[in-house]
Amino acid sequence: MNAWGSLGRGLALVLAAASMLLPGCRGAPARPDVVLVTLDTTRADHLGAYGYARGTTPHLDRLAGEGVVYRRAWSTASWTLPAHASIFTGKHPTSHGAVFDATGGAATLGEVLPGKIYRRIKANRLGEAETTLAELLREAGYETGAFVGGPWMSPEFGLLQGYAHQDADVRTLGGRPADRLTDRAIDWLRAQPRERPVHLLVNYFDPHRPYHPPPGYDDLPHARTPMTVKDLEVFRGKPITARQRAALVDRYDGEIRFMDHHLGRLLEALRELGRWEDALVVVVADHGESFGEHNLMEHARWLYEEVLRVPLIVRFPGGRDAGRVREDPVSVVDLLPLVAREVGLALPEGVEGRPVGERELVVAESFRDALAIRILGPRFDRDLVSGIRWPWKLIVSDRGKAELYRLDRDPGERVDLADGEAERALLAELERARSGFRPPARAAAPEAVSPETRERLRELGYIE
Ligand SMILES: [Zn+2]
Repeated sequence: MNAWGSLGRGLALVLAAASMLLPGCRGAPARPDVVLVTLDTTRADHLGAYGYARGTTPHLDRLAGEGVVYRRAWSTASWTLPAHASIFTGKHPTSHGAVFDATGGAATLGEVLPGKIYRRIKANRLGEAETTLAELLREAGYETGAFVGGPWMSPEFGLLQGYAHQDADVRTLGGRPADRLTDRAIDWLRAQPRERPVHLLVNYFDPHRPYHPPPGYDDLPHARTPMTVKDLEVFRGKPITARQRAALVDRYDGEIRFMDHHLGRLLEALRELGRWEDALVVVVADHGESFGEHNLMEHARWLYEEVLRVPLIVRFPGGRDAGRVREDPVSVVDLLPLVAREVGLALPEGVEGRPVGERELVVAESFRDALAIRILGPRFDRDLVSGIRWPWKLIVSDRGKAELYRLDRDPGERVDLADGEAERALLAELERARSGFRPPARAAAPEAVSPETRERLRELGYIE
């Protein structure tokens, strides 16, 4: 956020605060606490609230009963950095600019990381000029604290601007699963003065590869099947075997159950601290995960439903609309407007999110990066853009043929229906929407990335 933006917004906030004070005149603006939980790498269809039958998410399912479940929610991207940037800014990847950048330019990871491979990972950090949810809330008087589990969430990449307290010690990121992350978040919550509203961010990272559910959570039938590096070679686009899939999914589900257990503790702490009743709690994934669908593993460079469709559960203050299920299409860019409306804040300029119920087209984007070409071959040497207007979903590549699916009849995106009127109409709509996106004037270079962050990114396979 720059000074001029800050000044204008300050005025808007004063006006918004004044308007909030009028109705009840209770003396202080009753702003609800805002708790945002991002479930890294968590597919919507692996939650009980979304129809999964394995019983691995009792706490998320209970939250769903106390809140609103958005059954048709999509991310704007299929990997952590751009997806979180969209959640935090209300903008699409093109507009916030925190994306892979294979075209060179001023800002790349390769400029700050030594070694040949780093020059091939070109991702821009979220620029300081962007206004984030945490900045908005902090300016409105919130105590802001972030507790993150994933390396792309490190302060170097710009996502944590606005959080006065940043618990993102990269030296412990890989070794800091949901239990310790939750302990630290609860400790912070306990230390906050009750009279100040808090904005808490927790980014749970457990379901992300490597899938190693802790003891007590590794009891699904195939969770202990030994996995070799070769088993993960399906990442390179080979078909997956039933044995591989069962082993991977059982481990993944174990990680989700572990995360769910500790999320339950976090929500319980809010109740104990008397912060539950009026709290706004938003739980969303940044993206999902592929387990062999379309011969793909993991995530990041494609836009099929298994990576793009995300769970979204919102528990409104006072339990308003508890148990409601909404079918309206929602993009993660709509979360900033949702929170701003709920707490009575004006939106920053340039926000592309819409109130739920007003969105007709969902847009997602994926930009080429050199590592994808090396890992996946020419299949993903391309930028991809997707437009979803229920029930139609179009995936357009800047090279080669578009793909069109009917999600109501073909949720697995198996039958490509491109080459018809529906494709042309949706393509025109998608181009119209994207013509309104405004890239940031200048993408900022990442600040120095610590050796520990670099090591974590290497372990996770993002860099070598
Ligand atoms: Zn992620």
